[in-house]
Amino acid sequence: MTATHHFDVLIIGSGAAGLTLALQLADHAQVAVLSKDQLEEGASFYAQGGISVVLDQADSLQSHIDDTLLAGADLCDEEVVRFTVEHARDSIEWLIDQGVSFTKDGIKSETYHLTQEGGHSHRRIIHSADATGREVETTLLGKAQTHPNIHLFPYHIGIDLITSRKQLNQQDNHCIGCYVLDIKTDTPLTFTAPITVMATGGAGKAYLYTSNPDVSTGDGIAMGWRAGCDVANMEFIQFHPTCLYHYKAKSFLISEALRGEGAKLLLADGSEFMKRFHPQAELAPRDIVARAIDHEMKRSGDDCVYLDISHQSRNLLRNISRQFISVALALALI
Ligand SMILES: Cc1cc2nc3c(=O)[nH]c(=O)nc-3n(C[C@H](O)[C@H](O)[C@H](O)COP(=O)(O)OP(=O)(O)OC[C@H]3O[C@@H](n4cnc5c(N)ncnc54)[C@H](O)[C@@H]3O)c2cc1C
Repeated sequence: MTATHHFDVLIIGSGAAGLTLALQLADHAQVAVLSKDQLEEGASFYAQGGISVVLDQADSLQSHIDDTLLAGADLCDEEVVRFTVEHARDSIEWLIDQGVSFTKDGIKSETYHLTQEGGHSHRRIIHSADATGREVETTLLGKAQTHPNIHLFPYHIGIDLITSRKQLNQQDNHCIGCYVLDIKTDTPLTFTAPITVMATGGAGKAYLYTSNPDVSTGDGIAMGWRAGCDVANMEFIQFHPTCLYHYKAKSFLISEALRGEGAKLLLADGSEFMKRFHPQAELAPRDIVARAIDHEMKRSGDDCVYLDISHQSRNLLRNISRQFISVALALALI
């Protein structure tokens, strides 16, 4: 017999998605949040550039919707795009209410600094220096850790969902919890709840080269599939165009904010190539930039292309990124 824990809501995943939902529900329910590693570990912690939102007077919701549909190559669900864009400002205000500190235009400024990223026709990326995800994740986690109704379980890996059809032999199939392994003590556990939410992130680690953390192995998606959930859009994996390439160093993502500030992608002979692929050049949507880099590397046989931001001042670079910035880049997957 395995030990059983019962909660009103079981959330599998402690990234921005899982923690946001936990904080929204916790005044009304006893909520358990599972994480297969330490609680911060997940894509949310590593997100850098920032979050798209219309805040500038010169920008408009329609422009953000149009840019998103264009970047989505007519494959987006327009209703979902509209809903997301229209609720972005409220979501950012909620994050600010939780204590997330976004970078302002200046020390005494009331307005937030906005950067530009690929596919966007306006500056609309709110950010926290170049570590936006870390700021969001640690702030939400701090709030969750002090809420009496949120019960956090690090190093507890969800193994399989418990369904009424499989476990109780009922015709009506619904989820009643999850079998879980406490990996610190190697103990199998049963978590039951009338509502189970999968917030297990992506599957980027299925690829050899990725900027995703080790926890992004897609096992939540597989668990849902085994339990009878519909799984959709698995063919859409985003390859972030730029990460560090150095034969002696572990690669890491090089923020798109650099291209937003005018950095140029160059071939080994110093020539630019992005204009041959898209009128927006370095600020084309990510899939186009990633494919162009891949095309040029395959054509030339080179191991990388280069990113040149030498026209900008040292101070601006320090502000964009507190990380080490290299010029050598290869394809990265996020
Ligand atoms: C390097 C990088 C940079 C990025 N930059 C940006 C950016 O600038 N702007 C932007 O909007 N997006 C960015 N993204 C994408 C963004 O980070 C993700 O879309 C978002 O954080 C996903 O949040 P999540 O909560 O769904 O998943 P995650 O944050 O990945 O959390 C998943 C959680 O599920 C848990 N989990 C998974 N499987 C199990 C299991 N079987 N049992 C128990 N727990 C499990 C994990 O432990 C983790 O806690 C970036 C991503 C990466 C990797």
